[in-house]
Amino acid sequence: MTATIIQLAYLFAAALFLLALRSLGQPSTARGGMQMAAFGMLIAVCATLLDQRIVSYEWLAVGVIAGGIVGYPMGMWVPMTAMPQRIAFSHAFGALAATLVGVGEYLHGLHEHTLTHGQTLALGFEVFLGSLTVTGSLMAFGKLQELLPGAPITFRGQNVSNLLLFSAGVVCLVWLVVSPYSVPFFIAIAAVGLLVGILMVLPIGGADMPVVVSLLNSYAGLAAVATGFALDNNILIVVGALDGASGFILSMAMSKAMNRSFTNILFGAFGAETGGGAVEAGGTGGEMVAISADDAALRLAFARRVIIVPGYGLAVAQAQHQVRELVDLMEKRGVDVRFAIHPVAGRMPGHMNVLLAEAGVSYDKLVDMEDINERFADADVALVVGANDVVNPAARTNRSSPIYGMPILNVQDARSIIVLKRGRGKGFSGVENDLFVSPKTNMLFGDAKQSIMQLGAEVKLA
Ligand code: NDP
Repeated sequence: MTATIIQLAYLFAAALFLLALRSLGQPSTARGGMQMAAFGMLIAVCATLLDQRIVSYEWLAVGVIAGGIVGYPMGMWVPMTAMPQRIAFSHAFGALAATLVGVGEYLHGLHEHTLTHGQTLALGFEVFLGSLTVTGSLMAFGKLQELLPGAPITFRGQNVSNLLLFSAGVVCLVWLVVSPYSVPFFIAIAAVGLLVGILMVLPIGGADMPVVVSLLNSYAGLAAVATGFALDNNILIVVGALDGASGFILSMAMSKAMNRSFTNILFGAFGAETGGGAVEAGGTGGEMVAISADDAALRLAFARRVIIVPGYGLAVAQAQHQVRELVDLMEKRGVDVRFAIHPVAGRMPGHMNVLLAEAGVSYDKLVDMEDINERFADADVALVVGANDVVNPAARTNRSSPIYGMPILNVQDARSIIVLKRGRGKGFSGVENDLFVSPKTNMLFGDAKQSIMQLGAEVKLA
C-alpha cells in the first residue's frame, strides 16, 4: 500500500516537473513554473520519507537543517552577478551527494554480498560521473569567482592525456562490472573521475564557464539517473533524465548563441582573458564622442521609438529599477519603448529577463533578438546600457575577431545611439568595439545606475 502511494506521488511529481519545464520557456509563466517545480520536489521528498529503507530520520533532520542553514543565505543574498558561480558551487554539492550515495550503496552491497553486474554498472557510472562533476564544478566556481586564473591553462598533449585518463576510467568501470567485488577498481573509478574533472576544466577559459557549468549539470543529471537505477527509484531516473537533457540542450543553445561549437569550447582554449582583457581585434582607432546627460535625455524625451539594449553592465550597476522608472517617464510622454534581449547578454542565460522582471518591466516589452533586429532601423534612439559584445559589429565584419560569427543586435541601424558605460572597458571577449566610435554614437560615461537616474531627472524636466 505504502509502495503504491510512493509511486503515485512520484508520478504526480514527475508530471509537475514536466509542466514546470514547459512553463520556464516563457518569462510570463516562468515564476509559476519554478513554484510548480518546488512543489513537485516537496512531494517527491515527502514520498521518499515514507520509504521503508530509511534507517535514521534523525540524521535526515540534521541534513535538512544543515542544508537549510547553508542554502538560505546562498539563495537570498548572493547577488545576481555572482549567480553563475553560485550555480557551479551548488552543482558540486549535488554531484557530491550523488557520489556519496553511490559509494554508500556499493559498500552496503559489498557488506551484504548482494552486488550484481547491473547494479555495479549503475554505481560505477554514477560515481565516475559524479566525482568528475564535483571537481569540474569546483574548478568552474574557482574560475568564475576569480580564485583561480580565468585564462585557459594548457600544456602539450593535453587533449590526448585527458582522453587517455578518461579511457582508463572507462576500463576500470568495465572491469568492475565483470568483477563487482574488485574494490580497488571502484576506488580507481572515483579517483580518475575526480582527476578528469580538474583536467577537463583546466584548459577552458573563464568566458566559457557558464557553458561548462550547464554541461556539468547535464552530467550530474546522468549520475542521478544511474543512482535511480541502482536504488530502484523512479523519480531519480525521471528527474535525472530531465536534468541531463535540459542541461545538454542549454549548453548547445548557449554555444549556438555565441556561434561556438561544443568541441571548440571544450578543447579550443578560448577566452584567454576575462572581462576587459588584452585581445586586440577590430578597433579602427576612432574617437569616442561623449554626450551630457541633459542632451541625452532630450533625445530620449522627444523620440518616437526607443530601443533599450541591456547588457552585463546593467547587472553590475543593478540599475534595473531605475531603467524601469525611466521607461515609465518616457512612456508617459508617448515614447514607444522596447527592450532588445540578446540570448547571451549578461553572464547567464535569461540574465536580462530575470533582472528586468525583478524590476517589474512587463514581458511584452522584452523582444528577442530575431524579432527586434529589423525594428532598429525604425528606432530614433538605441540606448545601450552596459552592453558591449552583443552589439559589437566586429562579430559580422572582422573575420579575425574571436567573436566573429556571433549573432549580434543591429544597434548600428538605429538613427542614433547612446551608450552608457563607465569608460573604455572591453566586453567579456576582450575585443574593441567600433560601435562606440561610430559617427551615430554618443557615449554617456559613468556607472549605469547614476547615468540612468540623471536621465530620468532630466526627462522629467523636458
Ligand atoms: P559585455 O561583458 O560584453 O560588456 C559589458 C560592458 O558593461 C563592459 O564593456 C563594461 O564597460 C560595461 N559595464 C560594466 N559595469 C558597468 C557599470 N556599472 N555601469 C555601466 N557600464 C558597465 O556584456 P554583454 O552583455 O554585451 O555580453 C555578454 C558577454 O558574456 C558575451 O561575450 C557572451 O558571449 C558572454 N557570456 C554570456 C553568457 C550568458 O549566458 N549570458 C555565458 C558566458 C559568456 P566599462 O568597464 O567601460 O564600464
